[in-house]
Amino acid sequence: MSEALPEAGRCLCGGVRYALRTPPEAVFLCHCRSCQQAQGAAFNLSAPVPREAFVLLAGEALLARYESSPGKDRVFCRRCGSPVYAERSDTPVRVLRAALLHNVRALPVQAQLHETEALLAVPDAQFLEGPIVQGESHD
Ligand SMILES: [Zn+2]
Ligand SMILES: [Zn+2]
Repeated sequence: MSEALPEAGRCLCGGVRYALRTPPEAVFLCHCRSCQQAQGAAFNLSAPVPREAFVLLAGEALLARYESSPGKDRVFCRRCGSPVYAERSDTPVRVLRAALLHNVRALPVQAQLHETEALLAVPDAQFLEGPIVQGESHD
């Protein structure tokens, strides 16, 4: 890539790295059952960006996709399993899995989606202050 864009996010193994021409404006907590299963977590942090804003810096060969419902692909790193983004073929949006973003805590939480399927209540969702720890010994 010749563009000098800073890395905006990466997967757990670091094989997939990407930059963003325009950052997401907000994060959504999605509590839908598909997101729970895809993330293996209580909910998903989603951050939509225009598809053309996403610039893959590394890892093209690592990206695999699973069509979880007709026309909707969930794209993940085939080496470490990190969910990277989801997209629908009929929309110009790429929905980032926002926990991969280095600056995720700087984004406002705009809404919670599909709360009727929620496993955990997350009242007044907002990010905490401070840097994100990049350790090697987390579980
Ligand atoms: Zn990976
Ligand atoms: Zn969802």
